[in-house]
Amino acid sequence: MNGDSKKKIVKEIKIDIDKCIGCRACEVACSAFHANPKYSSINPARSRIRVVMDELNNEYVPILAGDYTPAECPGRHTFLINGKQYSECSFCRASCPSRDLFKEPDSGLPLKCDMCESDPPLPEPMCVQVCRTDALTYVEREEEVKEEEVSEDEVEIGLDALIDKYGLQKIEETFARMSLAKKG
Ligand code: SF4
Ligand code: SF4
Repeated sequence: MNGDSKKKIVKEIKIDIDKCIGCRACEVACSAFHANPKYSSINPARSRIRVVMDELNNEYVPILAGDYTPAECPGRHTFLINGKQYSECSFCRASCPSRDLFKEPDSGLPLKCDMCESDPPLPEPMCVQVCRTDALTYVEREEEVKEEEVSEDEVEIGLDALIDKYGLQKIEETFARMSLAKKG
């Protein structure tokens, strides 16, 4: 890699679905941590992790919210797990127009896992801390990436943290005010 690369800490949550018992403690903890003010409410619909439950077949699959997509997929695949067929959408991480998953229930805005970035930082993300079966485990590793990739990620994570802290409306108002001041 050339001179404009940089070391970056990659944070990862490993999911072992064989260990998940579908208790949904991860959903509770995530929604409480991201409530505004923090811990003021619990609503799994606001969680950035959701557990796909198939109780009859004893399958529980935790899914972490990924990126927003403005359009649904043009095609579909299916998964075969222990002889049972699941649609591709079952395990998709996207906040997508074709379903309600990973959308803030009041505003409809997309939800995305931010690895619980906070100040001061947590030793481990909340969902990992409350998972008693080790279905979720936290790993940090160092990776060499291009300089601009670091900054884009940092901007996104920084914005998410600000929105969590002050609320989306306040951040939008501040941006609008700043942009008017810059134009003027
Ligand atoms: S807390 Fe762990 S075991 Fe419980 S639903 Fe979440 S991932 Fe599964
Ligand atoms: S890492 Fe944090 S934001 Fe992401 S799903 Fe877990 S609790 Fe939610």
